[in-house]
Amino acid sequence: MPKAVAGPEIERLIQLLARLPGLGPRSARRAALFLIKKREQVMAPLAAALEVALEKISVCRICGNIDSQNPCTVCADPRRDGSVIVVVADVADLWALERAGAVDAKYHVLGGTLSPLDGVGPQDLTIDALVTRAHAPEVKEVILALNATVDGQTTAHYITDLLQDANVTVTRLAHGVPVGGELEYLDEGTLAAAIRQRTPF
Ligand code: ZN
Repeated sequence: MPKAVAGPEIERLIQLLARLPGLGPRSARRAALFLIKKREQVMAPLAAALEVALEKISVCRICGNIDSQNPCTVCADPRRDGSVIVVVADVADLWALERAGAVDAKYHVLGGTLSPLDGVGPQDLTIDALVTRAHAPEVKEVILALNATVDGQTTAHYITDLLQDANVTVTRLAHGVPVGGELEYLDEGTLAAAIRQRTPF
């Protein structure tokens, strides 16, 4: 066993940092050292921000977004188009769509996608709540912004079936050529989808 270089408090800090996505043990060690050196400028404000986050951040009771207010900022914004619900698997997808700024609607976070292999069924996701929301008279369109993976598309089909009797148009994201993409480098599945979903010029 290698000798401990630092006391248990520092080792614990390194171990916790190493659990963050994108940080391995080496970068966690570097981050811990950085925090310790920048105790006043970085570590103290970070610790305070984490404490506030721990206390205030919760899951929105309407859409499943994460925010420091409940209902979340998106749900509480009266200027947003309440006739459109964008369905996403994860909060990260909601944030990505908001960064893109392409849609000014409400959201619904499923909390994952259906995955029989991983034992994720409809009861593990917020699908019931979505169906209830889609039946509200003001809702006219449900956009399924789910991953172009087998699980994502399985989930999209499942939801589409459940929304048959709701008075909404169900749409999904286009599959095709990414912005700035070069055709010769695309995989066959993407190219075929792009041709099938071609639009008038
Ligand atoms: Zn919300």
